[in-house]
Amino acid sequence: VYTSPLPGPPILSTSIFTRLFGASHASEVGGFPGSVKAFVDAASGASVTRSQLKNLALSFAYGLKNNPNTSPFASRGNTVLIYSPNSLAWPVVLFGSVAAGLRCTLANSSYTSHELAYQFNDSGAKLIFSTEDGLEVVRKMFAEIGFAKNEAEKRIVVLGNDLRWAGGPSAPRNPTSAGLARMEDFLDKGKLEQEEKFEASAANETVYLCYSSGTTGKPKGVETTHQNITTLLDIVLPAYPALNTESDIMLGILPFYHIYGVAKLVHFPFICGCPVVVQTRFEPETFCAVIQKYRVTQALVVPPVLVILARHPAVDKYDLSSLRILFSGAAPLGQALAKAVKQRLMANRGGRGDVGITQGYGLTETSPTTHLLQVADADRKMGSIGILLPNLEARLVDDDEGKVDAAAGEPGELWIRGKTVMKGYLNNPSATKNAITPDGWFKTGDVAIRDKDGFYYIVDRRKELIKYKGFQVPPAELESVLLTHPDIADAAVIGLESVSEATELPRAYIVHAHPEKIKTAKAKLEFGNSVIKWMETKVARHKFLRGGVGIIDVIPKSAAGKILRRELRDRAKQEAAQG
Ligand code: AMP
Repeated sequence: VYTSPLPGPPILSTSIFTRLFGASHASEVGGFPGSVKAFVDAASGASVTRSQLKNLALSFAYGLKNNPNTSPFASRGNTVLIYSPNSLAWPVVLFGSVAAGLRCTLANSSYTSHELAYQFNDSGAKLIFSTEDGLEVVRKMFAEIGFAKNEAEKRIVVLGNDLRWAGGPSAPRNPTSAGLARMEDFLDKGKLEQEEKFEASAANETVYLCYSSGTTGKPKGVETTHQNITTLLDIVLPAYPALNTESDIMLGILPFYHIYGVAKLVHFPFICGCPVVVQTRFEPETFCAVIQKYRVTQALVVPPVLVILARHPAVDKYDLSSLRILFSGAAPLGQALAKAVKQRLMANRGGRGDVGITQGYGLTETSPTTHLLQVADADRKMGSIGILLPNLEARLVDDDEGKVDAAAGEPGELWIRGKTVMKGYLNNPSATKNAITPDGWFKTGDVAIRDKDGFYYIVDRRKELIKYKGFQVPPAELESVLLTHPDIADAAVIGLESVSEATELPRAYIVHAHPEKIKTAKAKLEFGNSVIKWMETKVARHKFLRGGVGIIDVIPKSAAGKILRRELRDRAKQEAAQG
């Protein structure tokens, strides 16, 4: 059993809200002056300070509990679904819900109505918070799950574009949202006197439900507790002392609905007293422009963003010299890419100063970070996910049962134990049992090596999960969608590595229901292309079949009927090599 080289901090048991907003004296919020900016909207410059955020959250909580539409659904322990891209309103509704004692399930903002319906039903959500732009999908979702219109409308809270509550510009209300409850209207009606408390063992109650497929199957609700998140904050702090309230500005570009975004952008900078500049969508030119305009010092990214920074012409047009640290996560960052980005950014600043390209590792199920590469080690150990965080234990396991540990320096499946490991998968005891051993070890499904200095390297993935630009693409989910196509008899989806884009691309192998209909190469190609297009009407963007479609006679399976994915991955590699 390996432990961290860093000393373990004391771990408290309290609610996230109390941990973040508890004040030691009146002018402070969470240990820093209430007047320090917490979140800034990149597009308009509108912002909220720490004390404003606390008050807005308590007002939103009050609104939820007192509005006649929402109050029946806003009792402690109820679940609400947030369906919104990053915005200034996002932390307000998140922390407002937490203050009200609610659980939040966070959905990808590009989900289709069908995907959203799955999460709304599975999580047992009672309310949904949506932008004006999302309303069409939300209404379609309610129709699909069989809600009468007036029942559905009571369960929607609109997050408008009007930013006057943050000193920003006003924006008109879309007539289609007339009559719905609105977040903006909640903010000046009163506020909750204090947050719902989750002290001692109540800190083990679930607060967030992000969705992850884990090692196999469809997406499942990951029960993240108050204790999980506050522990994460407590153990990342000593390992990542690089975030400084006096001088740092963090860029909030990663989606807040992913555990990596919510934990490392919405919570972590706040406890460090560091403002976050919120950006809604990644686009290379605006990304660089925002760094220049706000003198951003740190950004959390995924490897495909680094590819763009290594190559895109926008990098030369802007002054990015304020950047001190780029922190990558959610997918593997190779040494070559890290080096290329470092060179480019050093050239951008005329060789002056330094920029650290570093990374962290973790999973939705571990809240998320378990390992991080400290900035001081970033050059020396490029390509490593760094050291284990304090208070966690790790094993590298060489067999399925966990009886044999890998020899020093040899690869093994990474198992993690500690207070950041999820409570379990919601309403799914068998998946929980497969993921967590009776003595508390969580099986990551990733294969790692630990070097003699205690640095870990991810070398393989045992589980079937595909990651497109850091987003989860669960093969089982895409396979079940493909099987609803009238001409598809069988299907398997695997990830095809794209080195140039630093990501995997989902690729499907399908068996035609009437193979005699597509005998020629041309007919096969046309059929494959039609399936790619068809999928684009069924699933969110990150699940599109960008790796293409291969037509085969049979899907290779084991005697037990399990898809032999490795065989298909090898086949895909060969096909890609042949062009
Ligand atoms: P998610 O639950 O969406 O955060 O996905 C977790 C999975 O992403 C892990 O099990 C890994 O397979 C992958 N992952 C996350 N961070 C890294 C990293 N730094 N290097 C390699 N793989 C990573």
